[in-house]
Amino acid sequence: MSVLVYIDTLGGTVTKNSLGAVSYGAQIGSTTVVTNGRVDASELEQLKNYGAEKVLVNRSVEGADASQLTKLIVAAAEQVGADTIIFTNDLTGKAVAPRVSANLKAGLVSGAIALPEADGSIKTNVFSGKAFGIMKVHSPKRVISLTPNATEIKEISAAGSVEEFSPEVGTPGVTVKEVKKQEGDVLLTEAELVVSAGRGLKGPENWGIVEDLAKTLGAATACSRPVSDIGWRPHHEHVGQTGIAIRPNLYIAAGISGAIQHLAGVNGSKVIVVINTDPEAPFFKAADYGVVGDAFDVLPKLNEEIKKLQAQS
Ligand SMILES: Cc1cc2nc3c(=O)[nH]c(=O)nc-3n(C[C@H](O)[C@H](O)[C@H](O)COP(=O)(O)OP(=O)(O)OC[C@H]3O[C@@H](n4cnc5c(N)ncnc54)[C@H](O)[C@@H]3O)c2cc1C
Repeated sequence: MSVLVYIDTLGGTVTKNSLGAVSYGAQIGSTTVVTNGRVDASELEQLKNYGAEKVLVNRSVEGADASQLTKLIVAAAEQVGADTIIFTNDLTGKAVAPRVSANLKAGLVSGAIALPEADGSIKTNVFSGKAFGIMKVHSPKRVISLTPNATEIKEISAAGSVEEFSPEVGTPGVTVKEVKKQEGDVLLTEAELVVSAGRGLKGPENWGIVEDLAKTLGAATACSRPVSDIGWRPHHEHVGQTGIAIRPNLYIAAGISGAIQHLAGVNGSKVIVVINTDPEAPFFKAADYGVVGDAFDVLPKLNEEIKKLQAQS
């Protein structure tokens, strides 16, 4: 099976989600990676540790739009004879995967959360994570967009040769005017650990206890939608159905009720810890660990205990 993986790069670096997509592809078949932009050679080098046999890089187009990326990826798929094309189901993947699928007349599986089964069926998240779907593609080619953090990243050794690849991709229909980077040390979409809070925190002035715990853990911070709507926290922290969907190893939620729209973005987290004063809060049903208590007491105490444990080790 010949697999092509498109990876997006962030400021010239390869993201964890991209490594996950490459490792996913390598577990399916012989994998070529295609990417664009100014990516450091050392960044591309590491892809061979995740199963990339070849890396095609187009450095000539910076900030390519969806139509240019489609042309780049279709040309790469045709060059390597790919029958499976893989994306991460992020903003770029959502915009480009359907176009590539239409161009190649390939069936599209969106939001995969597992490797294909022996019969080719693929498990996906549907209804905002409330249910699983089992999809089967009947066309000779298929496009799979992968839910971030859905599968284990495996180290697989491969040749990883890097080649320049500059097919004609035309001019962009849309150009990037300005990029405002997310603040904070840990990127939410890439974070293994996330500390999140909701309206139970009462106001933006109280977020110090959330940030302190996140700092101690090396975690990213997140919030519920009303919190970003009111302007207590920036919009890029909003998780859920209408915000970012995340799947960290640990999600700590303080003062969040656990509405279905919030859960849609976080219920793929490996371990969920809920802190809420209301024992009937719906979030407890989705929690691995629940603390019925006041976030203003629990978060600082948790922080102190973790610091003590860190000092001992
Ligand atoms: C179409 C649509 C899309 C939506 N998309 C999203 C989305 O993407 N993400 C999202 O988050 N929401 C979304 N919502 C809103 C969602 O339905 C909820 O209204 C929202 O998640 C509630 O936010 P919250 O839990 O912070 O606030 P609340 O519902 O007000 O809950 C606050 C919680 O804090 C607890 N609490 C209070 N004080 C304390 C304390 N001192 N310590 C501990 N706990 C305390 C309370 O018991 C309560 O459970 C959407 C709604 C709609 C209709």
